[in-house]
Amino acid sequence: MAKLWFGPAGKPISFKGRMEKVPEFLASIGLDALEYEAVRGVRISEEKARLLGEEAEKYGVIMSLHAPYYINLASPDPSVVERSIMRIIESMKAAEWMNAYAVVIHTGYYKGHKSKEEAVKQAIQAYKKALEQLPSWVKKPDLSPEVMGKTTAIGDIDEVVMICNELGKCRPTIDWAHLYARYQGNRVKSKDDVIKVVEYFEKNLGKKAIDPLHTHFSKIEYGKGGEREHHTLSEDEYGPDWSVVCEAYKEIGINAVIISESPILEKDALLMKETCQ
Ligand SMILES: [Zn+2]
Repeated sequence: MAKLWFGPAGKPISFKGRMEKVPEFLASIGLDALEYEAVRGVRISEEKARLLGEEAEKYGVIMSLHAPYYINLASPDPSVVERSIMRIIESMKAAEWMNAYAVVIHTGYYKGHKSKEEAVKQAIQAYKKALEQLPSWVKKPDLSPEVMGKTTAIGDIDEVVMICNELGKCRPTIDWAHLYARYQGNRVKSKDDVIKVVEYFEKNLGKKAIDPLHTHFSKIEYGKGGEREHHTLSEDEYGPDWSVVCEAYKEIGINAVIISESPILEKDALLMKETCQ
């Protein structure tokens, strides 16, 4: 049977202890995934990261890491690109220490380019540089460009496929809320919508890149430019509908990691797990 892992993006809101103790807490409430949030910079020491990885293994928690927000691989300013590459390398090292299988990355923005294609091309070159500079002991984590919610950000489905195809050591992060917001609620509307997206990734990147499939979920508010704010599952005025995604996963029989980015993190991760069984 296909396996689904559920967990929060970062430290659970109802847990006040040290980061290393999070896996034990998650296991105690019935969750088995954790995305370590290095979104304000990779600040964890090697010792602590390794400890977190060991605890995660002990308690059967699958680890991923979210790279810093301050990354723009398509910036027209070369110094911004250099710093972004550095942040990706730091993220990959920390991910190796904590035994994380994916490093989630916001690739960058189209701004300053004549076309979207040109921005994506530059980003791919920068990703390649990051891979070239990666120490050889970093083996486990894949780069994982995220499907983005703002229409100004690189990260449409086909762009993520394009990037991963060029890099090899790469798997997509599908944020269903982002996709929904990017298309004004016109995607992720039905089970078939979701199946189509998963099949598109499989067809273009192969089974390995989607086993397990790395995904984010929450409800989301959007405007003309796409994403505005993440919301909890109980807020009926927002979409997408979790049951649509859950039913698609079950129908395809796919192994998937579902990271809750709801404001009530682990509570909605548990709700997703319960309603999907
Ligand atoms: Zn993200």
